[in-house]
Amino acid sequence: MIAFCRTLLFGIGLDYYITISRKWDWGSVMCGCLTLESAPVVRLCMRDEGVGLFHSPPERLFVQRLDLRYNVTMSFDRSIIFVFLDGIGLGPADESNPFWTADTPTLHRLLGGPLVEGVEGRGHASSPVLCRAIDATLGVPGLPQSGSGQTALFTGVNAAQLVGQHIFAFPTAPLRQLIAEHSILKQAVERGLRATLANAYSDGYWDWVKKRRRGRHSAVTLTNLAAGLPFRTFDDLRQGRAVYWDITHEVSREHLQAELDLVAADEAGRRLARLGAEHHLVLYECFLPDLAGHRRLPWPSEWALSRVDGLLGGLLEARPEGATVVVCSDHGNVEDSTFKGHTVNPVPLLVIGPGAEASVWDGVRAITDVVGAILGWLKHGADRNGQTE
Ligand SMILES: [Zn+2]
Repeated sequence: MIAFCRTLLFGIGLDYYITISRKWDWGSVMCGCLTLESAPVVRLCMRDEGVGLFHSPPERLFVQRLDLRYNVTMSFDRSIIFVFLDGIGLGPADESNPFWTADTPTLHRLLGGPLVEGVEGRGHASSPVLCRAIDATLGVPGLPQSGSGQTALFTGVNAAQLVGQHIFAFPTAPLRQLIAEHSILKQAVERGLRATLANAYSDGYWDWVKKRRRGRHSAVTLTNLAAGLPFRTFDDLRQGRAVYWDITHEVSREHLQAELDLVAADEAGRRLARLGAEHHLVLYECFLPDLAGHRRLPWPSEWALSRVDGLLGGLLEARPEGATVVVCSDHGNVEDSTFKGHTVNPVPLLVIGPGAEASVWDGVRAITDVVGAILGWLKHGADRNGQTE
């Protein structure tokens, strides 16, 4: 616990706001202390004065109950919430495209219309928004696939070109090696940034992977493993500290018999936003659109897109002031209802918030360019606060 708190305070030279709310448990009195020497600017806001927290001597802060996981919120001046939506491309503005027919009020508000071809350059809502079509084919013939596409998106390396083909679903050995070396979360951690994967994993997931013949993880899971970061659990999910891949738990309850309460899509988005207040980089994966595009959901694609839109609505509504939301995909799929497979369409890159107007996005033309831009934006923030790499 002490180690965790020290990391919390000394990790980065940014401006922290620490709020300790009243949840004192006098049964667990005095767990430890935090040393504030050489700490960054720390502002303490006590919601309940007179209990639990005092300075003695002034450079040492004693806390009666160190349950910071529940009680501390931080606000960084710059963070990124990276929403990865599997299987979303930019398709035509017609009935063949579920984005054209789905109820997506958040996207309409942001873009002045649905997320379809030609959306770039449209008049946007009050907060800065960048919307760009970027390449997901990676210069390799054939239909782009998740294994190589996600590896490219989460490492910045053209995985498909490296192995000479698009790789289905799970990264193969060379791709796993790439992720182990270049994972975006790993790179963030190495730069001293607080990073996290927002997705929750069931206890059964790890057994399930072991039992599979080749025990393969998805690119996102490997990205987190490479960084050595903990995984969020179903307990985190129940306590609102994680988001499941299906956003509302409707799919997981109905088809995977997961014992989870339903969560409104916008509430899931607000939970994601809260993680953005506590981390410089939050990664979240949702593969509802890809499943919908493959016709592997019992509901139409519009159903999946309305959940995604709800998530984005809640996320943007609760977005911390310094947080930039980045939305991207690994390949097209759901935007073409005439075909239940991937497409060669460009994928959308959406950047919403203070980072949308940054020059780091200028050169982003393909999914391999996203990692560099995200880390570039976060690095500028760290530099500005006196940090060096
Ligand atoms: Zn797919």
